[in-house]
Amino acid sequence: MFLETQKKSGRIEVICGSMFSGKTEELIRRLKRARFANQRVEIFKPRVDSRYSGDEVVSHDQHSIPSTPVDSAESILLMANNADVVAIDEAQFFEQNLVRVCQLLANNGIRVIVAGLDMDFQGNPFGPMPHLMAVAEHITKVHAICVRCGDPAQYSHRLSDSTRLVELGEKDIYEPLCRHCYNLTTHERKSIYTPGS
Ligand code: ZN
Repeated sequence: MFLETQKKSGRIEVICGSMFSGKTEELIRRLKRARFANQRVEIFKPRVDSRYSGDEVVSHDQHSIPSTPVDSAESILLMANNADVVAIDEAQFFEQNLVRVCQLLANNGIRVIVAGLDMDFQGNPFGPMPHLMAVAEHITKVHAICVRCGDPAQYSHRLSDSTRLVELGEKDIYEPLCRHCYNLTTHERKSIYTPGS
């Protein structure tokens, strides 16, 4: 499914899931294989995500590949002209026009691999991700492990009470939960703050 075909046929692949689900590791795995096939690879990420370093895609297990931070999706079009493969990490932080940019790249024969959170901390579809999944040829949903029960997890539960949509951080701010444990946790919170209960 994700073979490094030499045929110049563009396509969009989406890698999605919660925090700690291994999205970036899967992205890096595909990019390394593309490089073994002597394909030109360009990697972009939104400038907002500066958790570890300015110019590298860094996954949680410290495997990293150099990347280019960009202020907007349009910038990717200007910088991707010689690439066979264009990878975009943390795609949920881009504006909706990332969809048009990915379509243009794929229509011009480029393999586009997009990795990002499919849901925000409240369980809502995140940024351009749902639209990208609709137009993609291939979608891979990866799962973390629920810290409460050990089942596959799909929610990024925020441990702080902040309601900002973008709250960058690691294990001190988010924990992966399965649907059952996520619902238990959010109901617990609601009942705590319901007057008279
Ligand atoms: Zn669970």
